[in-house]
Amino acid sequence: MLKLVLKGGRIIDPAQKIDKVGDVLIEDGVIAKVGGDIDAAGAEVFDARGLVVAPGFIDMHAHLREPGQEAKEDFASGTRAAAAGGFTTVCTMPNTRPAVDDAVLVNGLIRRAELERLVNVKIIGAVTKGQEGKELAEVGDMLQAGAVALSDDGRHVANAKILRTGFEYAGMFGGLIISHAEEASLVEDGFMHEGAVSAMLGLKGRPAVAEDIAVGRDVMLAEYTGGRLHVAHVSTAGAVELIRRAKARGVKVTAEATPHHLTLTDEAVIGYDPATKVNPPLRSQEHVDALVAGLKDGTVDCIATDHAPHAFEEKDVEFRYAPSGFTGLETAVGVVLTGLYHSGKLTLPEVIEKLAAAPARVLGLEAGSLKAGAAADVTVLDPAAEWTVDSAKFYTRGKCTPFEGKRLKGRAVATIVGGRFVMKDGEVCG
Ligand SMILES: [Zn+2]
Repeated sequence: MLKLVLKGGRIIDPAQKIDKVGDVLIEDGVIAKVGGDIDAAGAEVFDARGLVVAPGFIDMHAHLREPGQEAKEDFASGTRAAAAGGFTTVCTMPNTRPAVDDAVLVNGLIRRAELERLVNVKIIGAVTKGQEGKELAEVGDMLQAGAVALSDDGRHVANAKILRTGFEYAGMFGGLIISHAEEASLVEDGFMHEGAVSAMLGLKGRPAVAEDIAVGRDVMLAEYTGGRLHVAHVSTAGAVELIRRAKARGVKVTAEATPHHLTLTDEAVIGYDPATKVNPPLRSQEHVDALVAGLKDGTVDCIATDHAPHAFEEKDVEFRYAPSGFTGLETAVGVVLTGLYHSGKLTLPEVIEKLAAAPARVLGLEAGSLKAGAAADVTVLDPAAEWTVDSAKFYTRGKCTPFEGKRLKGRAVATIVGGRFVMKDGEVCG
């Protein structure tokens, strides 16, 4: 029997309301015992004193770029980046070439992931064929094939009738629809958040109301159909308030926010660094404050990275011409611990809830907790470790990040998937 004991760490498992110092015993890839002083005779021992032992983090929003855009990323490079960043499960979005819009593609990717993955990979299918917004994709077939959710991420499903039908079909399988909520007519040609900074920089803006309108309509359709809606990368105060009110009246809506929207403002764009260009755009401080308040009170359930790698030469152009998005898997934990925990906005159990228990609950995954008998997916954190972001050391192919050169406090120091170390002391194993 393969035994591993994580010795003397602060065990935080929000799903079981555990926060105590003790040992964790892993046997044959499964959590066997949590807490107390465990006899480590015959076991591999990991000294976790001074560290935090948490359920493995789940990123429910990443772009691993398979199939078709392997120059940007693939399952091998993307899951190494996930392991390096402390994630044990990563969900990949379907805006690929071709878009993942049928069961054959979902099946193929599940098999690819089994061969190539270093961490668990879950597949998200498209809502519409080719993500073109014109015709519903094979929603039921994809869910039955193992897709964990459906999304046209990158675009909003503009046609309300199609989204209504999507909720109805997905609902038959208990399926979740993840919305990239931006009203297209208001954001076309916009490069950044519309406000004082965009006016100063002379860049056309993407107004916050574009997100508010899209979230409002999607919430109404979820309410009308009884469907399950998850709002991706919420970034506006208005959207947070719409989701808060919808939850209060029982609409099946959940939401995520990204580390960058929670910690950066549109002032990061001053200097026209293409690494700060993202959709939805970095917003002004009032929106950031509302987003953090929403995260704190549970309106925003999860933190997700929206890891979006691009080839260096694509992003290394004038701001207007650069594609939107940047990598996030290897900076997320450090950014969140620095910007939300060390600043006193969230407690460590709250951070871990948002990164592990909540995404597992939203997606219906058997994960996100250190329950005895669960697969031993574990993230070990050193909240006090100080480090500097250096994209040259990233495992992802995408080297673009708005956090380049930033000094952060806190990081994952070990990642365990199925009882096996996939990252230790910052080095990916395997
Ligand atoms: Zn998106």
